[in-house]
Amino acid sequence: MSGFNTLAVHAGQSKDPHTGAVIPPIYQTSTFIQDGINVLRAGHEYSRGSNPTRNGFEEQLAALEHGAAGYSFASGIAAEDALLRAVLQPGDHIVLGADGYGGTNRLISQLHSKWGITSSAVDITNLDAVRTALRPNTALLWLETPSNPLLGIADVAGWAALAREAGALLVVDNTFATPYLQRPLEFGAHAVVHSTTKYIGGHSDVLGGAVIVADHEHRGQSLAQAVSFQQFAGGAVSGPQDSYLAARGLKTLGLRMARHCASANTIAHWLDSHEDVARVYYPGLESHPGHELAARQQRDFGGIVSLQLADEAAARAFAESMHYFQLSVSLGGVESLVCYPREMTHASLIGTPLEVPANLVRLSVGIEEVEDLLGDLERGLSAAARASQGQRVAVHA
Ligand SMILES: *Cc1c(COP(=O)(O)O)cnc(C)c1O
Repeated sequence: MSGFNTLAVHAGQSKDPHTGAVIPPIYQTSTFIQDGINVLRAGHEYSRGSNPTRNGFEEQLAALEHGAAGYSFASGIAAEDALLRAVLQPGDHIVLGADGYGGTNRLISQLHSKWGITSSAVDITNLDAVRTALRPNTALLWLETPSNPLLGIADVAGWAALAREAGALLVVDNTFATPYLQRPLEFGAHAVVHSTTKYIGGHSDVLGGAVIVADHEHRGQSLAQAVSFQQFAGGAVSGPQDSYLAARGLKTLGLRMARHCASANTIAHWLDSHEDVARVYYPGLESHPGHELAARQQRDFGGIVSLQLADEAAARAFAESMHYFQLSVSLGGVESLVCYPREMTHASLIGTPLEVPANLVRLSVGIEEVEDLLGDLERGLSAAARASQGQRVAVHA
């Protein structure tokens, strides 16, 4: 099989045979003319069922994940919802990594719970805890590694072995790592989900999600059949323009990820030696508990760095005071972003055991010159120190 960047550029991206256009046209159409009743010219009938632009992207992404088939949706959450509906039945139980995307937890605990789905949250780094959480009705294990926002690293092969023992499926949210850094299906996962909004789109200009499945039978049908039918019957597909933007982004994923990783690594080490930073979470640091596992399981350590500052006032001032690190949710674009997870991405977890610490901020390191980013962080840390000191003075006054 061809290498990563070759597949990224060519898989699913066949040239236009009619005009020779190097880039396949965007098939901005809802329906396809039939040559007779149910005589379809190229297999396409209606764009909810299939559309060449969407299908090209699905093939491209499935090739990069080494999966049997891929399915593209309107958002990451729509992809997750479709997968859950495709494989679960009322009464099923999910073992869910505790440190994960807040919206995934909300989807399961507030929407799917209405159809009798229950879940238990576990420490993703502790396989004994995962085993203990398994129940006779556990149908699914759901894992994010590296996790969000604490960048924990889980042993995907270990989770996959437990899923098989339990007769359950393992789903891995591969949004943070992307197939450039890690391919969970090769470690035994049954399905991968993505928010293609993040690194795959890569330019913060499109929402999207995807499910990529292994060749696996589940409850009497293949996973591909189950997800494909859910996509068609549930209808949360990505449109042609969005599919095109995701496919265009995916072509340069390898180049961008290499740069994100290099800069994040520089930044994590710089922060780690800075006196105003209480703690840095980055799997590329030798002190990170998952460092060696990440080195085995991933090509590199990723573009996300989280850090804890002296206190909440420092974290807020840091997040609000930088120029290149713009305050916003989301991640994975070419521009650097900073987020205050407790009250932004993970606000739905406040008051639960899963709530995020008040002094934590998360950086999505972009592709700008790393010297400029370090200067920006220095500005942020000065603002943080002033805010923290100001608060201490106010408390003592
Ligand atoms: C953003 C994100 C999602 C949700 O994707 P949307 O495209 O926002 O719907 C799921 N998982 C992870 C890890 C994410 O970062």
